[in-house]
Amino acid sequence: MYRAMLTVLGPQGWWPGRTRFEVIVGAILTQNTAWTNVARAVANLRQARVLTPRALATLPTPRLARLIRASGYYRTKASRVKRFVRFLRARYRLDLWRMFRVRPSRLREQLLAVPGIGPETADSILLYAGQVPAFVVDAYTRRILERHGLIRPDATYDAVQALFMSRLPPDAALYNEYHALIVAVGKDFCRPVPRCERCPLRRDLEQYRPAAARRFLAFRRKDTKAGKASPSRLPPSALGPWRSALGSACALTPSAATRGRCTRPRRR
Ligand code: SF4
Repeated sequence: MYRAMLTVLGPQGWWPGRTRFEVIVGAILTQNTAWTNVARAVANLRQARVLTPRALATLPTPRLARLIRASGYYRTKASRVKRFVRFLRARYRLDLWRMFRVRPSRLREQLLAVPGIGPETADSILLYAGQVPAFVVDAYTRRILERHGLIRPDATYDAVQALFMSRLPPDAALYNEYHALIVAVGKDFCRPVPRCERCPLRRDLEQYRPAAARRFLAFRRKDTKAGKASPSRLPPSALGPWRSALGSACALTPSAATRGRCTRPRRR
């Protein structure tokens, strides 16, 4: 899968952030929103010259919330950023270098204990800010693996992560690129209604789930020919085996996803 994605899409050049701290703030702000919104929020923080641990430690939470408004859920996210900064001050005297010297498994536990930081955010911080080989699992990863029959809908975060980490060498650069490629496929191809025709992973799907691939591609052709490719027109029966995958990867209700109406994949 990795080679297929890399060959077609090329290196993704992640993570977009100028400093480690900027990467961490971006990882917190990107929960439940598109990166374009996060980029605007981060630009505001940069312009206000508060994108350092020391500056954010003294910035009042309401002002922080105003600056990151573009990222959505800004009050919640402001308090999450502040909690992280409080953690950084209490444990590491606001020194990221000191923080990343801690054993990765221990640091991961500490990060997970910070309210508002879940496994995906913690692993994003470890991988993209700390260059620690921690594979990041997001909603796109789950959706692609489910559709390819590699995981069950109820697979836990740790189980999905172990699937990658038990088969790949502990290489932060590889994990970085792999996750970035998965996000690219998830955004452009493996959407709530999958666009398998041009997807770099189409061959993989045809090889391992031929029945599913045939079924979906046939439906898609028919739908496009009739000039009604709108996801909302998908009858639930056409989705067949996709139902659970769509449901579990959707930010709305599972039933909205199975009707093909979800346009907002969930990011944790
Ligand atoms: S769009 Fe189709 S081929 Fe591509 S990852 Fe999704 S299910 Fe697989």
